[in-house]
Amino acid sequence: MNHPYLETQAVQRAAPARVVNCPICAIEWPSPVACCACGYDFTIESVHGAMARFRGARISAVTMQACGAVTIALIAPFFWLVGFTPAWLILAMFLIPIQVIGGLTMIVRGAARLRTATRHLRAARRLGQLPSARIVERRS
Ligand SMILES: [Zn+2]
Repeated sequence: MNHPYLETQAVQRAAPARVVNCPICAIEWPSPVACCACGYDFTIESVHGAMARFRGARISAVTMQACGAVTIALIAPFFWLVGFTPAWLILAMFLIPIQVIGGLTMIVRGAARLRTATRHLRAARRLGQLPSARIVERRS
C-alpha cells in the first residue's frame, strides 16, 4: 500500500531541481535565480555588482587590519600618558594581553577576508574580460 506522502517524495526525487553555479564564488542556486549573494547578475551575466562588492570587502578587510595594528600600537601612548604607577602597571598586566590578542585577531581575520575578497575579485575580473561573442569557425 502506497502512502500519498511517500509518492510525492518519489516524484520530487525523480525530477531534480535545476541548479546553477555562481561563476565567481561557486555557490549553487536553484535554476531561476536573478542574482548571487556575491552580486553576480545571472540574468545579464554581469560581474559589476560583484566587483563593487568585493572591492568594498577588500577595503573593509584592510581597515580591520589597520584597526588591529592601532589597537596594539595604543599600548605605547597609554603608558606615556598615565605613567608607570604601580596601580596602572597592575591594570596594564590585564589590559595589554587583551589588547595584543584583540589586535592580532583583527589582523589575522582581516588578512583572511582580504585573501578571499582578492581571489573573488580576480575571478570576477577574469570573467568580465571574456568576450561577449565568439566567432566559431566550422570546418567541414
Ligand atoms: Zn556568487
